[in-house]
Amino acid sequence: MEEHTRFRDPKLAKKVADYIKRLAPPHDVKLCHVCGTHEWTISHYGLRTLLPSTVHVIAGPGCPVCILPAAEIDEAIALALSGVTVLTFGDVIRVPGSETSLHEARASGGAVKVVYSVSDAVKMAERHPDRDFVFLAIGFETTAPATAVEVLDRSPENLSFLVSHRLIPPAMEMLLGVGDLHIDGFIAPGHVSTIIGMEPYQIFPEAYHMPTVVAGFEPLDVLFAISMLLQQIKEGEARLENEYKRSVTQEGNLKAQRLIKRAFGTVGGRWRGLGRIPSSALALKEEFRFCNAREKYNVEVTHSRDLLPGCLCHLVMIGKINPPECPLFMKTCTPSSPKGACMVSNEGTCRIWGQHTVSP
Ligand code: SF4
Repeated sequence: MEEHTRFRDPKLAKKVADYIKRLAPPHDVKLCHVCGTHEWTISHYGLRTLLPSTVHVIAGPGCPVCILPAAEIDEAIALALSGVTVLTFGDVIRVPGSETSLHEARASGGAVKVVYSVSDAVKMAERHPDRDFVFLAIGFETTAPATAVEVLDRSPENLSFLVSHRLIPPAMEMLLGVGDLHIDGFIAPGHVSTIIGMEPYQIFPEAYHMPTVVAGFEPLDVLFAISMLLQQIKEGEARLENEYKRSVTQEGNLKAQRLIKRAFGTVGGRWRGLGRIPSSALALKEEFRFCNAREKYNVEVTHSRDLLPGCLCHLVMIGKINPPECPLFMKTCTPSSPKGACMVSNEGTCRIWGQHTVSP
């Protein structure tokens, strides 16, 4: 049996769901994931419908496009309108900045092109040595190593980087400080964990007594992770466990970690609607200032606005509300006409719920 088929076996899923029902406490428990792909799996396979009424799975800030603050979109727009060609991923160009998006800036004559990878950006810069390019580098620990490779390889002189990478464990720690959220356990993201390994999550059981399970992306992965968390909660224990051993090792990808450390330092970073989270962003090291677009072009955005009036993305992104609780959801904000960042990306909670949970 193929691996993905094994982890989608409906008979086994039913058995695990029954086991979860036996483990579920009589009081409400809230389990939080921080990954757009986890939310997609949960919504697509209807996993919430298999859970007892006391077990709630909420979505944290796990969509790299959604959490991009408007100020950093505004920086890219300013560059695109100044004649520099901005290269970035397809989802990003539709994300709202303070007033407009990269997509709208392109319609107004700005230079914006979609690429599929940072190496595509390098190739484009090499093909057009007479033009200046900026790669808007977004994503979590999973995509940062690819950016680091090109920075360390001293990519073409006419390509610089607007770095907007963010780190997941500090965002998880931030969630624990949200007074009335009351999370009982974390489902940690499998993709990020293939890079960072298990150690960065150790703080959650040790300092916060928070059960934490790293999980894969198939429906059975998520159900297993939920059962492992409920087992810990039942025992009154808090451990760090790895459900996704077929991909995640204790130490993670050491080569990728070294690349990140060589190219970037860790700084505080803004997350859309959530403010600044300490030690949650990557910034190019001083020795790479020659390819740092913020230094090279002296981009400065003094005022920005993360949320359009009525948009509740800041509450959706911390799992405080579900998308249908936003008054704009599937009324004026839809996948074909998004008003907020969470409705733009395929990893955004509102878009996933719009496509799976509620008929448009
Ligand atoms: Fe923002 Fe739209 Fe989601 Fe409302 S439905 S929170 S406006 S993305």
